[in-house]
Amino acid sequence: MRLVIAGAGMAGLVAGARARQLGLEPVVLEKGSRPGGSMLLSSGVVWRHRELDEFRVECPAGDPALQRLVHERLDEALDWLESLGAPVLERDTGNPRTVGRRFDTLGLTEALGETAGEVHLRRPVPGDHEGPLVLATGGFPASVAERLRLILRANPWSAGDGLWLARRRGAATAGDLDEFYGRNLPAAPAHVDEEGFVGLAQVYGRFALVVNLAGERVGPDEPSWSEVDLVQATARQPWGRAWYVVDGRALLERVRERTVAEMVAAAEEAGGEVRRSDTIEGLGLDLPASDKLAEPPFAAVLVQAAVTQTLGGIRVDERARVLREDGAAIEGLYAAGADVGGIASGGWSSGLAAALVLGLVAAETAAAEAG
Ligand SMILES: Cc1cc2nc3c(=O)[nH]c(=O)nc-3n(C[C@H](O)[C@H](O)[C@H](O)COP(=O)(O)OP(=O)(O)OC[C@H]3O[C@@H](n4cnc5c(N)ncnc54)[C@H](O)[C@@H]3O)c2cc1C
Repeated sequence: MRLVIAGAGMAGLVAGARARQLGLEPVVLEKGSRPGGSMLLSSGVVWRHRELDEFRVECPAGDPALQRLVHERLDEALDWLESLGAPVLERDTGNPRTVGRRFDTLGLTEALGETAGEVHLRRPVPGDHEGPLVLATGGFPASVAERLRLILRANPWSAGDGLWLARRRGAATAGDLDEFYGRNLPAAPAHVDEEGFVGLAQVYGRFALVVNLAGERVGPDEPSWSEVDLVQATARQPWGRAWYVVDGRALLERVRERTVAEMVAAAEEAGGEVRRSDTIEGLGLDLPASDKLAEPPFAAVLVQAAVTQTLGGIRVDERARVLREDGAAIEGLYAAGADVGGIASGGWSSGLAAALVLGLVAAETAAAEAG
């Protein structure tokens, strides 16, 4: 049976590779000029929370059944990726709350592509496609960034085509379509391109006094470890911008492999607006009093919210079948990856893990339904 797969990112390539193993004829259509989607640009860490309960606590608005599916199938799915020859760089996520593996994303794209077969580039899925179809177009970060005038921190092609096509065939949505995962990046005039998506991310909001351009505090006092709540709060400010202001103690703090001082320096080297002074007043900002600013030297970095992945999207069941509002499955229509809504709602969990597991499940369901 011919199975058309829309998107050659993580979920689409996984679905294609698994479909071919199961005896189907996958045809992978890719809108962009290269395979790999946002997965190719990512840090490649495919992870899960240690316990399912922690996943629930961190992403409380997500669908419990889909969360359980991703949690329970991930370890075996990681072994499957390795069995295809996907190169593992680390067997540790660097985060004590999570377990998983870090892959070389180019090697991962190539290993999956070799099993999936030819990827047809610059070939978006036709809107009137008939026949079995897996939607794996990567959600709609490009549309959200455009609409909210934020930085796009993802591939440029994921603009909601999968969601549009599913809606046209009667699909329901899941999760909040306005919710997204992202990072704060140095704001213009900083130059941020794909190579800077990881290295320029400013992920020390927890150590900083964060204020908007009017000097008002932004976001929670204690952001979540992924800081997705702080990024979303930044996105709601004028121009999606904020100042991260840190003191001498904060500059010495580490977030994973980098110090805060290194992240500030990276913003400066990219041409971002960075102010430094031995006094708070010397920064030239109108700042509220804060015990986060006690010891010189002080630094302030102008950041802007960047959209990596939308968290709302198409509603599916645990077999990756696209569902209507009444809960019935739409025949021959499957979705995986960031096209699927309602997995990480309320927080953030590994998008690569969800794409991997649902990509596998979509292919398996299509094969089972093909008889
Ligand atoms: C800088 C960065 C770092 C990240 N780090 C991590 C990390 O370490 N761990 C983690 O879990 N997640 C990470 N992510 C998120 C991760 O990359 C995504 O969750 C994952 O790629 C989602 O997989 P996907 O297949 O849904 O989308 P993608 O991998 O983006 O693939 C979607 C594909 O669909 C294509 N497409 C769009 N429209 C159409 C159409 N109409 N027809 C055909 N094709 C179409 C796109 O061009 C793209 O190739 C990161 C993302 C970025 C950008």
